[in-house]
Amino acid sequence: MKINFIDLQAQYQEYKTEIDKEVSEVFASAGFIGGPKLDSLEKNLAAFTGVKHAIGCSSGTDALLLALMALDIKAGDEIITTPFTFIATAEVIAFLGAKPVFVDIDEKTYNIDPTRIEALITKNTKAIIPVSLYGQCADMDAINAIADKHNLVVIEDACQSFGAEYKGKKSCALSAIGCTSFFPSKPLGAYGDGGAIFTDDDFLASKMRMLLNHGQNERYKHKYVGINGRLDALQAAILDVKLRHFDKEVKLRQEIGQRYSALLADADIVTPFIENENTSVYAQYSVRVKDRASMVAKLSEQAIPTAVHYPMPLHLQEAFIYLGYKAGDFPISERVSEEIMSLPMSPYLTNEQQEFIVKAIKG
Ligand SMILES: *Cc1c(COP(=O)(O)O)cnc(C)c1O
Repeated sequence: MKINFIDLQAQYQEYKTEIDKEVSEVFASAGFIGGPKLDSLEKNLAAFTGVKHAIGCSSGTDALLLALMALDIKAGDEIITTPFTFIATAEVIAFLGAKPVFVDIDEKTYNIDPTRIEALITKNTKAIIPVSLYGQCADMDAINAIADKHNLVVIEDACQSFGAEYKGKKSCALSAIGCTSFFPSKPLGAYGDGGAIFTDDDFLASKMRMLLNHGQNERYKHKYVGINGRLDALQAAILDVKLRHFDKEVKLRQEIGQRYSALLADADIVTPFIENENTSVYAQYSVRVKDRASMVAKLSEQAIPTAVHYPMPLHLQEAFIYLGYKAGDFPISERVSEEIMSLPMSPYLTNEQQEFIVKAIKG
C-alpha cells in the first residue's frame, strides 16, 4: 500500500479547477507582488480568525521576526520560549541579538509549561513566545496573565496551529500578536513559502506592514530599517482558494487524528493529549514510543513513512552552544525528543491506510 507522509498531490487534484483559474488570473494580470489576491486573502484570514489585522508575509519565520522587530527587540533583551520546537522560534530572537531564554514543556501537551515561566523573568525580559505545537494551542490564558503582570508582550508561534481553537477562540487571536506559516506541509499550506501575522493593534499592524516592505511608508520613503518579507500574489491566490475549503479540511484532520487515537488506545504508545477546552488541527500526529529506532525501522519495512519533530531540543543545538545550556537542563523536552515520532497525516488519509499503519504499529 502506497502511503505519503502528507498527500499534497491528492489535495491539488481536489481543488485543481479553482486553483488553476486563480493562478492564471494572476499570470494574466502580471501583478505578481501585492494586488487584489493578497487583499482578498488578508480580509478572509482576518474574518476566519476574528482578528482585526491579518498581514501576509514571506514565511512563518519572517512573521516571527517582523513581530519582534515591531517591538524593537534588540541586543540585551530576553525572550522566553520553549526549547521543544522548530529552530525558527528561537532563531529570530538570536538573529536580532536578543537572548532566547528556554522554559521546559508540559509533559502531556508538549507546550511551554506556564508554571515555570515567572521564575525566569528579569528586568531584561520583553516578551514570551509560546509555541502551539503539533496543532494544539499553548495555555494562552495562563501565559497572558503572567505577561500582563510583568508588562510583557505575548507572541503566539501559531505556525502549526492555524485553524485550532482554544476555549472557543481561534489560534492567532489569542495574544498581542499571532504568527503563522503557510509552508506547503502546514495545515494551510501554500505552493512555496508564506506566512501571516495577526494583531488587533493598529500601530503594530501598520508598523509590521512597513517593516515587511523595507520600512517604507510611501514609495522610496523609509521610516524604518525593514526587510523584504512580502507574500507574493500567486501564493495569496492559492491560499485564498484553500482557505475556502479549510473548515472541511480541519474537520477531516480532526476525524483522522481522533480515529488514530481510538485505534491506538490499546497499543503500548502515548497518543496525543488534547485538553478538553481545545481542538487540535493535528499539524503532526505525534506519538511517544519507548524504542523509536526499531519502530521507525519496522514501519519503514512496510513502506510507511514517519518523521521526528524534533530529535534535538534547541538548547542542545550547536547554533545555541553560546547560550551556555547543557544536557539535563530541560529533562522533559529531552525525554520527549528521544521518544516522539510523527505518523502519516493528511485530510486525504483513507481508513484503509490508517488501519494498515495501526496494524504495523501493533505488530
Ligand atoms: C514551520 C514553523 C516555523 C517556521 O515557518 P516557515 O514558514 O517555515 O518559516 C516556525 N515555528 C514553528 C513551530 C514551525 O513549525
